[in-house]
Amino acid sequence: MWHEEEPIGIGVSSCLLGAEVRYDGGHKLDHHISEVLGEFFEWVPVCPEVEIGLGVAQQPIRLVRGDDDPRLVEPVSAEDLTERMEGYYAGERIDELRAAGLDGFILKSRSPSCGVEGVDVVDPDHSITRNGTGVFARVLLQVWPELPVTEEGWFEDPGWRGDFFERVLRRHRERTTALLGLDPGRLTDLRAIHQLLLERLRVKG
Ligand code: SF4
Repeated sequence: MWHEEEPIGIGVSSCLLGAEVRYDGGHKLDHHISEVLGEFFEWVPVCPEVEIGLGVAQQPIRLVRGDDDPRLVEPVSAEDLTERMEGYYAGERIDELRAAGLDGFILKSRSPSCGVEGVDVVDPDHSITRNGTGVFARVLLQVWPELPVTEEGWFEDPGWRGDFFERVLRRHRERTTALLGLDPGRLTDLRAIHQLLLERLRVKG
């Protein structure tokens, strides 16, 4: 772990760390995130579907075209889970995540809950359009717009990777300065440390 006065906390879709929380009981372990990035960050794992009580080994849920934003629906029972997910994350849970001191969030792509863009949406004629945003991701972006957010797949783009971590580290310095009252000398040291860290993070190992 990369030690500082305050850890650099990053929220992450927990299946990316190997937690077996997907609807089929599986995971989506990403070795780059869990092993390479795990040296530098303190993960705060979140599985929105488990947190709202869906549990694992459920039927896969989907985004279905609605009048406004796509709805989050369990296809077998036709239960609409949108308001349950929105209500949970627009309320106290987001305050808990803020209190956990997050400096960024890494979300699982293509998920009807976590995907930021390009998620499958079922249209009324049963065709699928790949232009949705997962409901948890949408709420997170709405209620916490200043938080740097990425999908795991976007790390393939070196420009995006560098930009994301630069925003994470800048936010961390600002948060740490406000929290600990760093003097100018310590802040300069922290900037230098972050510059070195950023150079390592720009290279996808
Ligand atoms: Fe849970 Fe999100 Fe992973 Fe789905 S993509 S299993 S909701 S963490």
